[in-house]
Amino acid sequence: MLGLYLHIPFCSAICNYCNFNRGLFDADLKHRYVEALLREIRRTADGSPADTIYFGGGTPSLLDAHEVAALIDACRQSFALTPGAEITLEANPETVTPQTLEGFRAAGINRLSYGVQSFRDDELARLSRLHSASRAADAFAMARAAGFDNISLDLMMWLPQQTVRDWLESVDALIALGPDHASMYMLEIYPNAPLRDAMARGRWSVAPDDDVAEMYVSGLDRMDNAGYVQYEISNAARPGRESRHNLKYWTDGEWLGFGCGAHSTRDAVRWKNLSSTEEYIAAVQGDGPVATERRVLTAEDRLEEALFTGLRLNAGLDLPAVKGRYAIDVWGRFGEELEPFVERGFLLYDGRSLKLTRAGMLLAHEIMAVFIR
Ligand code: SF4
Repeated sequence: MLGLYLHIPFCSAICNYCNFNRGLFDADLKHRYVEALLREIRRTADGSPADTIYFGGGTPSLLDAHEVAALIDACRQSFALTPGAEITLEANPETVTPQTLEGFRAAGINRLSYGVQSFRDDELARLSRLHSASRAADAFAMARAAGFDNISLDLMMWLPQQTVRDWLESVDALIALGPDHASMYMLEIYPNAPLRDAMARGRWSVAPDDDVAEMYVSGLDRMDNAGYVQYEISNAARPGRESRHNLKYWTDGEWLGFGCGAHSTRDAVRWKNLSSTEEYIAAVQGDGPVATERRVLTAEDRLEEALFTGLRLNAGLDLPAVKGRYAIDVWGRFGEELEPFVERGFLLYDGRSLKLTRAGMLLAHEIMAVFIR
């Protein structure tokens, strides 16, 4: 089954740490962009079965409900969308009202993913986010009132000035709301991020590595105790509420991305659309190609990716399945280099599967480097 990803590159303000493909909201540009997206979806139509749609951004909740409805309809007309398909919209807490949420629900959205990042106002202010902790809690309550029974909340750890205690305060606040899914990422501050200057001016620092390890492990321990099940390095869910769309990225799945900068992977080919919003619109409206960076994945590329993404999952790598698909004995080929990680308690190997332990997830990059030859 295909997943369909729709990129919405508009935000009300640009956060000081963000390096996603996005720009400032402009009503005219949004209108022209949605027209182009509809056109790209329709011209790609081939009736293939699809079971997820994901509106990511940027800030997809800046779309009007009728635009979301038109885009979902275009997907339905162009692909064989399964009954019960998971249809997610990423939303920023400050953008929603009871009316917009009801509109999104009526349009067909059945999963909301809120970018909360923190339940502490001082941390949100340092990240230049537009919402407050109480606005996030209100947005969550509004979504429940509008009938959403599948809501994910994102948090970020390792924020400037954040202590382990501060982090756990956010985790506890999240648990108290009771979302169906949670994502917990570590903030990465890229080299030219305005946040770097703000940190220098404010003399803010980030917690030492040992504290980050404690944040990660204790945050997830609290999620365990609250009945959530971690299923991927950064994701935990109530049983049955894992993100079906995101699982496609981690399980060798196939997806089509629409919109500027969107990535697609299908039939062992990967490509990326033009990043610039204006160039993307012009190309689609001129019936020109939007795909750039097209790459045919070799058997070795696919194997490497299956190993990387498989290890991100708590279920780990199913070694007989990898052998059946890629004709490789993973332990035979990499076992000698992996053994030290098993001995130090970072990796579990039982002859049939290979899994990272929670402590091992903190060293995922180092462990996965073994697979790069
Ligand atoms: S709202 Fe999200 S996509 Fe937009 S600037 Fe902030 S972090 Fe980036």
